[in-house]
Amino acid sequence: MTEYFEVHDRDGPARRSELRLTESLKTPGLIDGKLVDAGSKWTGDIDEPDGDESVLTVLPHRALPGGTPTEVQQAFAVAYPDVDFPSAAVISPETAKDHGADVYILSNAQKIAGHAAAFVDAVIQTRGAIPADTALYLPGVATPGNVATLAYAGIDLFDTDQAVLKGLQGKYLTTDGEAFLEDLEELPCACPACQIPREEFDREDCAEHNEHALRAALATVRERIRAERLRDYIEGQARHEQWWTASFRRLDQQYSYLEQRTPVCRQSEITAATDDTLRRVEIQRYAERVTSRYRCRFDKPLVLVPCSAKKPYSQSQSHGQFHDAIQFRAHLVSITSPIGVVPQELELTYPAQQYDSVVTGHWSATETEFVADVLQAYLEQIDYPRIIAHLPKEYREICERATDGLDIEFEYTAVDHPTTSESLSNLASTLSDESKYMKRERQHNTIRAIADYQFGKGAGDELFSDLQVGSRYPKLRAKDEAGEQLAMLVPEYGLLALTIAGARRWVESDTPTKRVEIDSFVPHGSVLAPGVVDASEDIRVGDEVVIEGPQAFGVGRATMSGPEMKTSTRGVASSVRHVEEK
Ligand SMILES: [Zn+2]
Repeated sequence: MTEYFEVHDRDGPARRSELRLTESLKTPGLIDGKLVDAGSKWTGDIDEPDGDESVLTVLPHRALPGGTPTEVQQAFAVAYPDVDFPSAAVISPETAKDHGADVYILSNAQKIAGHAAAFVDAVIQTRGAIPADTALYLPGVATPGNVATLAYAGIDLFDTDQAVLKGLQGKYLTTDGEAFLEDLEELPCACPACQIPREEFDREDCAEHNEHALRAALATVRERIRAERLRDYIEGQARHEQWWTASFRRLDQQYSYLEQRTPVCRQSEITAATDDTLRRVEIQRYAERVTSRYRCRFDKPLVLVPCSAKKPYSQSQSHGQFHDAIQFRAHLVSITSPIGVVPQELELTYPAQQYDSVVTGHWSATETEFVADVLQAYLEQIDYPRIIAHLPKEYREICERATDGLDIEFEYTAVDHPTTSESLSNLASTLSDESKYMKRERQHNTIRAIADYQFGKGAGDELFSDLQVGSRYPKLRAKDEAGEQLAMLVPEYGLLALTIAGARRWVESDTPTKRVEIDSFVPHGSVLAPGVVDASEDIRVGDEVVIEGPQAFGVGRATMSGPEMKTSTRGVASSVRHVEEK
């Protein structure tokens, strides 16, 4: 039972949390001065420590060097006592499990620091074995440069040992790496230690500077997590050293670890400034859902257009011009890096209106490949009567790659640029024989397409078999034939929020329901983690969830992943939008 550690904000595997000692400590942060080690059992029997709430007590341990065979580690494993003060257990990735401690200390930290593969494997193995609401401490390795990457992977606690040691060795640390003090003509820092003339600045001052720089770097990390934008930061910052970059790229290959910890919607922006952005969970998940869950319900030609900088696209000048030329006679799909393809019904759906990319007029080879692959997967599963590519000529390579091997012919209508009057008139005339679809059809298709995207393939037809849509786009309300409201479209995320009636349809349908099973009580406003009896494994932050217990049936939005709800003993697991007593 973790009484002394609580997670407040999550940003992928990174968390902003609090270690509740007498004087509370913010994490990711430094444990210096707050740690009492009860000692190693190798030196003989040790009495159980008394402990107190002002410090974190490291329980008697028996650490082994990294690389010790698992059987040997298990043979010497320590049974940790159940204590009622803030405590830490020393573990290795191989012996990590729930010992009832608030903090877990990785004993092989020195060995894995600097080695991306070993580090990522160790963190994933350890995080998978200890409860979500406990802190992970990597002793003796933190520097101002590496803490952002380490925190991004899921490390919560650090110390100043390495920064001080490097200072005493004459190495001056910053967030972009390290320099030999002798090589510096100027001190590139405004911390108190650096306020003396360069020639008087010695190694002791350097150690003091390193400590300041580490504290500042950790504050930056905490603020980035709070803003939900740590990833944007490390895509740039981690580039300064190979093992930092290698670590987050290796982490990107551990998709399920990241996916479980990445919300399905949020309001923070995604800056797409590097090819690494294409591997973000948010981007991969959107592409995966559009090419596997989405179904086009318009019986019309497809018109491919470039995205606009303004979001949602339909509010932009260029898309206004495309719309005037198309006049409800075609299905509009935007081609964009880094999202891939965005069908018109999903233009609001996260992250289609939350990303901002660097526009240079040229796409990198990686972007071209990614977008072409997504477009190809999209075209393979949707059968359009005609495909019109109303795209600038730079997109020609994408079109050719996407149709390579497919029996599909594009009709090209843009001359030079898609918004020239000649291009727009070509687009209008190529559609002259096509009939228009009705506004009601567009609204129905939007609700159903979002349901498919959000709840799974076929959900749009199952949950909304009979449908009336009210209000103006984007604030659409979905009702059944009798006029009872089932859901509303939340314009900020482009996802549906269900009513009780909508949630009942979900439960009764063949679409897998995301369920939070609770104890015998009626929740109001939220469900706390200790009240959760069971939760679906595939629940992600931001997901709609059905909340059910012996006394209540409700619907809300998850604020933890399913696995985290099950293992956490603190914090809000889900909001509750509507609830009925049984
Ligand atoms: Zn300084």
